[in-house]
Amino acid sequence: MDCDKCGTDAVTHLAYSGLHLCEGCFTQSVEKRVRKRIREDGVVPDDATPEDPDTWVIGLSGGKDSVVLTKILHDTFEQDPRIELIGLTIHEGIEGYRDESVDACVELADDLDLRHELVTYEDEFGVQMDDVAEDDPEGMAPCAYCGVFRRDILERYADELGADKLLTGHNLDDEAQTALMNFLEGNPRQIAKHFDASLGGFDDRETQETFVPRAKPLRDVPEKEVALYAHVENLPAHITECPHASEAYRGEIQELLLKLESNHPGTRHSIMAGYEQLAETAADSLRDGVDDLGECDRCGAPTDRDVCRKCYLVEAVDGEV
Ligand code: SF4
Ligand code: ZN
Ligand code: ZN
Repeated sequence: MDCDKCGTDAVTHLAYSGLHLCEGCFTQSVEKRVRKRIREDGVVPDDATPEDPDTWVIGLSGGKDSVVLTKILHDTFEQDPRIELIGLTIHEGIEGYRDESVDACVELADDLDLRHELVTYEDEFGVQMDDVAEDDPEGMAPCAYCGVFRRDILERYADELGADKLLTGHNLDDEAQTALMNFLEGNPRQIAKHFDASLGGFDDRETQETFVPRAKPLRDVPEKEVALYAHVENLPAHITECPHASEAYRGEIQELLLKLESNHPGTRHSIMAGYEQLAETAADSLRDGVDDLGECDRCGAPTDRDVCRKCYLVEAVDGEV
């Protein structure tokens, strides 16, 4: 097959748009979508200047998504003094898995000459995910602990590093899976939370002072295309799965979505188009509750309880609960 744009050999077929693309036209098309998303979400503020740049902290895990996001952001803003990029990598204490992906992050940051910060659960909370998974004091899946710890570090370090935005590498498949899971769980608060992650909604209002605004510039790019981009650009991405990965439900949803997408190309895009509108409406109607957040008695983080979830879990893991 020939590339529909330039006539050279195509390397991929995007069923949802019908296009066959060669390597060059494919990478351009991914980059174009990411830049368009950044523009449409208003991630670059009008008032950023070379003297007072907007600082963007990128959650850099070393997996293909965050590596591709970092590379495209770097290439796009390298010459733009209004934007400052910092890669933030979190080591959860998972032997044989995270060490290799941290190496990928260090290699990428070196290649791109990017400021890079590494934070560990061990230093922050005195825990390793391998031990948490084994001890499991709350009888939960490892990811349930890990997600709380990760969010805490991302928020805190974004603040410490003076971040104006926190950017993560969620792709279209991740987002469509989450959307579908939230629909199926029937929890409007969860649906409203979508606006924590996309600028222009929730973040612009009451929560802005409490949480660093998020952006997900890859959310229009399907997972398969992110992987192909990493391959074509020869990026140092780490692809092994975490040994504690346990989101069985997400796996089922992923299978379902891939089947739907193959029978009805464009399904993921249409799910997200409807979901974003719904999330905005849900956020509007639930916004009142957001102002009620108090401070955690232990660490001062915003929470609607006396002790935040992170402090509760750290204490549970320490055997103090
Ligand atoms: Fe943590 Fe689960 Fe991700 Fe492993 S798969 S790093 S345990 S959230
Ligand atoms: Zn081409
Ligand atoms: Zn706390």
